Amino acid sequence: VYRRFLNIYRSIIAQVADLLFPRSCLGCREQGITLCRNCLKDIPKPEKNLPDWTRALFSYKSPLIKNSIWRLKYKYTYDIGKVFGELLFEALTKEYYNAQSSETRSIYLIPIPISKKRMQERGYNQARLLTNAILSCDDSGIFKDGTHFLKRKEMQSRQSHTKNKSARLQNIQGSFIPGDPLPPQSHFILIDDVVTTGATLEEAKKILSQMGACKISAYAIAH
Ligand SMILES: [Zn+2]
Repeated sequence: VYRRFLNIYRSIIAQVADLLFPRSCLGCREQGITLCRNCLKDIPKPEKNLPDWTRALFSYKSPLIKNSIWRLKYKYTYDIGKVFGELLFEALTKEYYNAQSSETRSIYLIPIPISKKRMQERGYNQARLLTNAILSCDDSGIFKDGTHFLKRKEMQSRQSHTKNKSARLQNIQGSFIPGDPLPPQSHFILIDDVVTTGATLEEAKKILSQMGACKISAYAIAH
């Protein structure tokens, strides 16, 4: 109840702030939106290779992307989530959905869960925000909400304080637990804001595999 109240409160604050200080693009200062699609056209793709089941739209080296993700994560800038949600929806549809295909398996989007502690600090999960933005673009119901399949356990130390990949992988081990049972013959796509070493996605994939998932992919905004 408290969280719901907090979210309503945040959304009222955001709307009042829009009236007082109209939004403008972080890239070109155009009025009306915090991040315009025109500015995203020239952002480079990620340089380093990701495992072939993982995709990211942009290079995290871009200051505009870094700034936008920071706002999405810590400032509840929901219109940034909407823009990224649209781009992720287009990329996901292009890659995984073919209307002519005979494949009938369901495609579930699973946002990477955050810990209760972080949820209390922030009041929302940015990966959930992105997933909801993708689902709201999806008028024909290609993708389903898979939020309830994966849960997060409380962690000893914060992921962002642990730098290298093996340390991160060790740190994240055991931090996800199974949620609802997985429907058979389905495709599960993990959604996150940033892929750094890929340790978080690998651990989430491991749990989904243990739960019986055969086809698992991941999509993020940046790497
Ligand atoms: Zn712009």
